[in-house]
Amino acid sequence: MQLAGKRAIVTGSTSGIGLGVARELARAGAQVVLNSFSDSPEDHAVAEKLARETGAECRYVEADMADAGQCRALIEQAGGCDILVNNAGIQHVARLEEFPVEKWDAIVAINMSSAFHTTAAALPGMYKAGWGRVINIASAHGLTASPYKAAYVAAKHGVVGLTKTTALEAAGTGVTCNAICPGYVLTPLVESQIPDQMKAHDMDRETVIREVMLTRQPSREFATVEQMGGTAVFLCSDAAAQITGTTISVDGGWTAL
Ligand code: NAD
Repeated sequence: MQLAGKRAIVTGSTSGIGLGVARELARAGAQVVLNSFSDSPEDHAVAEKLARETGAECRYVEADMADAGQCRALIEQAGGCDILVNNAGIQHVARLEEFPVEKWDAIVAINMSSAFHTTAAALPGMYKAGWGRVINIASAHGLTASPYKAAYVAAKHGVVGLTKTTALEAAGTGVTCNAICPGYVLTPLVESQIPDQMKAHDMDRETVIREVMLTRQPSREFATVEQMGGTAVFLCSDAAAQITGTTISVDGGWTAL
């Protein structure tokens, strides 16, 4: 299998895109470390289920990506990694002049600074191995903006910048760093908003998705977690060995507009 013998760490991976990426990496043969900030039986059960599904070795390691020390400890506790996927992220929507300072700080810490800390901790092992893949899950909002999402847009643009610098420092070592920029992806988080939107706009499910939620996505289709996972597996392949320091949009044409 393509990724047999490789260990992958995916931050924020008990649901949504992180879990989808972890699943595709496990299917490709990687040993996978799942992560979130809690330590419940459900968290460990997600890893056990993924192991049963894929036949890969999967385990769960708790670490709060809002905390610099815990970000670095995650890499150490996992025993290092060949593939690092920086995925953990949160959102808050408010006008800039009313944006709560604690939300700004949390979004910058979880969505951007965590990638700096985990990458700094993971790179020495990758350099030693002469192979590594750092994949940052940015966003269409790493390339373009929307109103009321100041912290998210700033943090995701920051992640794109970090991606480029990481790639330049790693160039020629066998380690690459790229960012995947998803458009709107149908994760449980997004799915849960559909009933409220249907009620608010008095529309059926399909109409609210096409006419309200996906107005900026020209395909008028959600991207899927499987597509994010498939893109990550591609970035781990030999075909992608010279792809570094760039962004790959998986956004139904959003950023082409
Ligand atoms: P999600 O809420 O389904 O999953 C987020 C994961 O991060 C969860 O496992 C959660 O437990 C974890 N997490 C949250 N705070 C954490 C913390 N402090 N420490 C560790 N883990 C933490 O969200 P998602 O939609 O799957 O988003 C995943 C990533 O993809 C985020 O970076 C998000 O910005 C990005 N993204 C999502 C979309 C979309 O439409 N869903 C679009 C573009 C980018």
